Amino acid sequence: MPAGHFTSFHPPQRTLMGPGPSDVNPRILEALSRPTIGHLDPLFIGMMDELKSLLRYAFQTENEVTLPISAPGSAGMECCFANLVEPGDKVIVCINGVFGGRMKENVIRCGGQAIIVEDPWGRAVDPSKVEAALKANPDASILAFVHAETSTGALSDAQTLAKLAHDYDCLCIVDTVTSLAGVPLKVDEWQLDAVYSGTQKCLSCIPGLSPVTFNDRALAKVKTRKTMVQSWFLDLNLMLGYWEGEGKRAYHHTAPINPLYGLHEALCILHDEGLENSWERHRTQHNILKAGLEKMGLELSVPEAERLPQLNAIIIPEGINDAAFRSQLLKDYNLEIGAGLGASAGKLWRIGLMGYSANKGNVLYCLSAIEALLNK
Ligand SMILES: *Cc1c(COP(=O)(O)O)cnc(C)c1O
Repeated sequence: MPAGHFTSFHPPQRTLMGPGPSDVNPRILEALSRPTIGHLDPLFIGMMDELKSLLRYAFQTENEVTLPISAPGSAGMECCFANLVEPGDKVIVCINGVFGGRMKENVIRCGGQAIIVEDPWGRAVDPSKVEAALKANPDASILAFVHAETSTGALSDAQTLAKLAHDYDCLCIVDTVTSLAGVPLKVDEWQLDAVYSGTQKCLSCIPGLSPVTFNDRALAKVKTRKTMVQSWFLDLNLMLGYWEGEGKRAYHHTAPINPLYGLHEALCILHDEGLENSWERHRTQHNILKAGLEKMGLELSVPEAERLPQLNAIIIPEGINDAAFRSQLLKDYNLEIGAGLGASAGKLWRIGLMGYSANKGNVLYCLSAIEALLNK
């Protein structure tokens, strides 16, 4: 037995305005505390069906295969790559930040060959470079890119990139972890083939689940694989027996029951608000934040046309100690903002306006806390 006296953990009430998790709506926290029932209980299965149709709304898709993977966004990413990439497959990967780099890692681990299209951090993926890579690699079968790069705050044109992929007979794998519910995302209209997301960004749910959606083109590729999917847990063929086996669900793994109540609640909240209104709210709060930051003389690092409203990368002013400033915000204001990643560590702050966190009260609180500390 470990020595010492142990008591329950009671975290403080922070205001979360970093790159995720975002503030969790209290309605979701309440939903999480409802009684746990069996994961094959008919009432639970009914809830799962509703959850899938709410997810289809969030993704703007009719895809039958739309479900939450029982693990964080990174697992949704692994699921897309593990199922779609076979050894020897050539995959064009766009890297304009941290998460594109992870896509490349996935391709390599699946035995694929990654062809990299690089763009500067803080910029959108350049479609003309992607087209050149597609032209130069006629044997490529997949294009992978991040819609909303949380590491830099850049938004790429998913519709244009997906169209390019299809023009060159490729499928596309799209990371929408930060874009879902925060900016327009239209899976069917834009014909995105395999898409993964997360719950702790603009859905303001707890972390640990990854909504994914696959269209028929992507499923056809999974079904005609010559090799077995290397991951047992993420093999869609097995997972679908659980999520899709109408009326006769086969046990695959024990679903995270209470977290799924939380996601269901988060999607009900999104449905109540309306997807377009949610996009609009993120945009409006971004504009208020931007105006306030500029008034203080602070500068956003991403060019205006490529900016992500829900993730604002700010250039740290000369003479400010990044780590000390952020820990002071946490200590004095219970306010969390994000640090820069990789090459932008120490150079940028990342202020998230995601989901429930994207409200006027938070924006004004954040602005006045930053102003007070900068003046000190
Ligand atoms: C947060 C994030 C992920 C990873 O999600 P986890 O839930 O942390 O595994 C992947 N891609 C992007 C763009 C993200 O912002």
